[in-house]
Amino acid sequence: MTQDQIDDIFRENIPAYALDALDVEDARAVKSHLQTCASCRTELAEYRALSETLLMMTPPKTPPAALRRRLQGQLPSAQKRSSPRFVWSFNQLALGLTLIILLALNVSSYLQIRALQKQQVQLASQLQNGQAAIAMLAYPDTESLLIKADNISGTLLVDKSRNIAMILVWNLPQLDSTQTYQAWLIDPQGKRTDAGIFRSQPSQPYTSATIFSANDLTNFVGIGVTIEPSAGSPQPTGQRVFKVDF
Ligand SMILES: [Zn+2]
Repeated sequence: MTQDQIDDIFRENIPAYALDALDVEDARAVKSHLQTCASCRTELAEYRALSETLLMMTPPKTPPAALRRRLQGQLPSAQKRSSPRFVWSFNQLALGLTLIILLALNVSSYLQIRALQKQQVQLASQLQNGQAAIAMLAYPDTESLLIKADNISGTLLVDKSRNIAMILVWNLPQLDSTQTYQAWLIDPQGKRTDAGIFRSQPSQPYTSATIFSANDLTNFVGIGVTIEPSAGSPQPTGQRVFKVDF
């Protein structure tokens, strides 16, 4: 186990430790870990600060007995013996609120982790495209062709011997979620073959898309890109973004 993994185990127990809810053995383990770990001490201090904030909130006040009797005497139900009511003690209230806040913190951490995982997938695919581009550029038979259209410029890398092409374009506009970019391989008769869909990334100024063709690229004379409904189309239906002949 790495230090980080050990740390995670202790960190999970810190909220319970702060609430004195751990059994003796676990509490002792956390306590001895805290002596050696500054980040867990910080975590504990944060939870304690949170609990203290809750404890400082105005506790429900009990009216003075005389006032209470007088008020109760004026109520229509005064003659009836009041049934015992469940009253939250101050500690129960504080514990309840603490649990709600801890729950909220957990939910927010979970959402953050999910966002990070999504970002990680995007970054991994960007990295993969970047590495593929470098590999293609290093290969002497790779053709490099200019992509030029309204407000869009870029490069099309074509490796006909290995049937790989890569689109690298700058300033490709963001599409809304109902649309996608779709690439097409164009044969000498003008027939289009689906070459995959791709989106532009909001986090970077250029967009890259790799095309691995099942057919020999020498059977084709160009690549086009259109805007299509988000799942892609069997044949181009939308506006053309650019076309490159090779
Ligand atoms: Zn720690």
